[in-house]
Amino acid sequence: MKNSYFEEFENRHLAGTYQKIPVLAARAEGSHLWDAEGKEYLDFMSGYGVAILGHSFPAVRDAIRKQLDEVYITHSSVYSPARALFLKELSTVLPWKSSRVFLSNSGAEAIEAAVKIALKATGRKKIVSMEKAYHGKTLAALSITHSNKYRKSFRDLLYPHVDFARFGETHELRRIIEEGNVAAVFLEPIQGEGGINLPPEGYLKSVREMTEENGTLLVLDEIQSGLGRTGRMWAHEHWGITPDIMTVGKGIGGGIPMGVTAGKAEFVDALEIGEQSSTTGGNPLACAAGTAVINELRNGFVERADAMGKYIMGRMDEELGNHRLVLSARGVGMMQALELRIRFLPILMNMIEKGLITLYSGINTIRMLPPYIVSKEEVESAISIMKASLDRQLSTAKVN
Ligand code: PLP
Repeated sequence: MKNSYFEEFENRHLAGTYQKIPVLAARAEGSHLWDAEGKEYLDFMSGYGVAILGHSFPAVRDAIRKQLDEVYITHSSVYSPARALFLKELSTVLPWKSSRVFLSNSGAEAIEAAVKIALKATGRKKIVSMEKAYHGKTLAALSITHSNKYRKSFRDLLYPHVDFARFGETHELRRIIEEGNVAAVFLEPIQGEGGINLPPEGYLKSVREMTEENGTLLVLDEIQSGLGRTGRMWAHEHWGITPDIMTVGKGIGGGIPMGVTAGKAEFVDALEIGEQSSTTGGNPLACAAGTAVINELRNGFVERADAMGKYIMGRMDEELGNHRLVLSARGVGMMQALELRIRFLPILMNMIEKGLITLYSGINTIRMLPPYIVSKEEVESAISIMKASLDRQLSTAKVN
């Protein structure tokens, strides 16, 4: 079957909210996917960071298949063995002794619940988020997402009591918190969508201290950076802090949609019966997959993400660090960015033509969220494609 057969239906019927790229994913395994015409790609987009163990990871696929034969949908008002076992496993990797979680179906939903918990648990009104933050596009999540492009048409619908502080600077944040009435500070420990922005040393510790001193909750959005992505189970471990609430999403359900809002029991318990729910949140299929994901991560994949991330960064530095079109190569673990001196689009398109799929941030940053199972050979192929695309562009680009 021709790719165009399927592409035409999507173009005609799917809401036009996605910036489409010319890739059709007909089949996928490991770090690779294939289109309907048999073209093979190296997939460093991984479903926007969902396929953390690569596509069709055997233990996850087997857990989903087994659960399909037992029961795959049960509302959370009914007890479920798969959900119980998932919660038990998850609790062992959460950073608190006594935790509670709310289960939903996406990252944005996890954020919605976190906002409600923060407001209800503190009885305060204000939320502080960060410039360049991305927390999703449902209304509470959008209220704390910074990009004007995403917000501008919906201003009247957004939660009005939100201040944005500069990520990485404590001065303004302290002033806002000390003015009072701040329920929570929401932070991605490493900003993903904003361009893989790492916090300066000492910043997260200061934010933790400042929030603690003022009875403000610290909510860490680990939807992109969590689950081993940075070479630690949670990115915040790099900086030795513990949040009050944490959101998890993307790979947690092994590809079956799942969002998790986890926190210290004393805060999550602020929400009472009926104050938050989801028909399909915590369904047995996602939970069974989630248990398999956590078990596999414990089998050395977090350490692998750390080691392979170092290898990728080292090789990117060697091969691309001094390229005339590259401003900087940065990242940690399996979360990398290549900031260019030109717009990313022609490079991205040329890489796709050559068989490499990546993500992007802003207008000039190529972003990569490779699966943790990626091999050195696959990394070398990806880097040589990037280099070839950059070289090709150099002959035509205007570099200042
Ligand atoms: N928070 C962060 C840090 C994210 O990276 C994302 C998605 O990219 C979200 C929230 C929203 O998640 P979802 O797209 O599942 O709603």
